[in-house]
Amino acid sequence: MFKKLALIGIGLIGSSIARAARAHGLVETIAITTRKAETLDEARALGLGDIYTRDAAEAVRGADLVILCTPVGAYEPVMQQIGPLLAPGAILSDVGSVKAYVHKVVGPYVPEGVHFIPAHPIAGTEHSGPSAGFAELFIGRWCVLTPEPSVDSVAVDRLMSFWGAMGSKVEVMDANHHDMVLAITSHVPHLVAYNIVGTVADLEAATKSEVIKFSASGFRDFTRIAASDPVMWRDVFLTNREAVLEMLGRFLEDLAVLQRAVRDGDGPGLEAMFTRTRAIRRSIINAGQETAAPDFGRPHAVDSTAAVIDVNVEPPAPVRDHGGGDDA
Ligand code: NAP
Repeated sequence: MFKKLALIGIGLIGSSIARAARAHGLVETIAITTRKAETLDEARALGLGDIYTRDAAEAVRGADLVILCTPVGAYEPVMQQIGPLLAPGAILSDVGSVKAYVHKVVGPYVPEGVHFIPAHPIAGTEHSGPSAGFAELFIGRWCVLTPEPSVDSVAVDRLMSFWGAMGSKVEVMDANHHDMVLAITSHVPHLVAYNIVGTVADLEAATKSEVIKFSASGFRDFTRIAASDPVMWRDVFLTNREAVLEMLGRFLEDLAVLQRAVRDGDGPGLEAMFTRTRAIRRSIINAGQETAAPDFGRPHAVDSTAAVIDVNVEPPAPVRDHGGGDDA
C-alpha cells in the first residue's frame, strides 16, 4: 500500500504501528528514527524496521508516508528538520493526543503538494518505549483523523484504509471538536488520577503505607493511569489548555454538587447520580470499548484486595485485551 513508511519516534505507539503495518503487509520499507541511540538500538534488536537512523532527514527521504510518533512538544523542531525534505504526494501524519495544536505548529512547515492528515489512535497503555508496543494495539479502537477540509480526499481515504487495515475504526473530525471530546474522556480523567495519587504521595508516611497496603481497586486503577508517561502528559496539558480548563470547570461544578449531597446526607441524590453513571459504563461496554468482565478482566488467583503494592517496583506487562489499557 505504501512504499516507504518513516516513523519519527519509536515508542509505544510508533513501535505498535511498525509491528501492525508489517503484520498486515501495508508497507514495503519501514524507516525508523529517534532521538536516543539506545532507543534506536532497542528498535533494531526488536527488528521493527528496515532502516535505522538518528538522522530524521535520512528517514523521510523518499517516504510516501511519514508519521510523527514523538510527544507533541517535539513536533516543531522535528518539522524544522524534515519539512523541506518531504516529497510531493507524500502523506504526513502523526499520532498525537491533541490536534488543534498539531495543526498550528506543523501546518506552516508542510510543503506544497504534501498531504497533511493529523491522526489520533485512541489506544494505548501506561507503558512506554519500543518494547511496550504490540501489533494488536489498534484492533477495535478508534482512530480520529483531523484533516483540513481542503485536503485531497484520495489521500484521506488512503490513510483511513491504512488505519482500518491495522484494525482501527476510523472517523474524520474537526480538530477543535476532537480536543474538546478528548479533554473530558481522557485528559481530565488523567488529571484527576494524577491528583489523587499525588494527594496520597503527600500524606504522612504512616498513612501513606496503609493506603498502599490496603489499596482498593478504585485507587489502584488511578495509580495505573497516573503511571503514564510524564513527558507525554505534560505536553498534553500544555497544548490542550483551553479545552481542558473548560471541561475541568464543569467537572469541579459537578464535584461541588456531589460534595453538597454528601454533606447533606442526600441519599436519593447520590443514588440517582450513581445510577446515571452506571448506565454510561454499560453503554461503553455495549459499544465494545470495554470488557464486561469484573475488575477489567484481571485474573483473580489471589485475593487482590489484600495485595501489597510496592510503588518502587515496575508494573507487570499491560493487559492486552485493552481492559487495562490507557487510551490517551
Ligand atoms: P513513548 O513510548 O514515550 O515514545 C516516544 C518516542 O518519541 C520515543 O521514540 C522517543 O525517543 C521519542 N522522543 C521523545 N522526545 C523526543 C524529542 N524531544 N525529540 C525527538 N524524539 C523524541 O511515547 P508514546 O506513548 O508512543 O507516545 C507518542 C505519541 O503518541 C505522543 O504524541 C502521544 O500523545 C501519542 N499517543 C500516546 C498514547 C498512549 O497511550 N501512550 C495513545 C495515543 C496517542 P527517545 O527515547 O529516543 O527519546
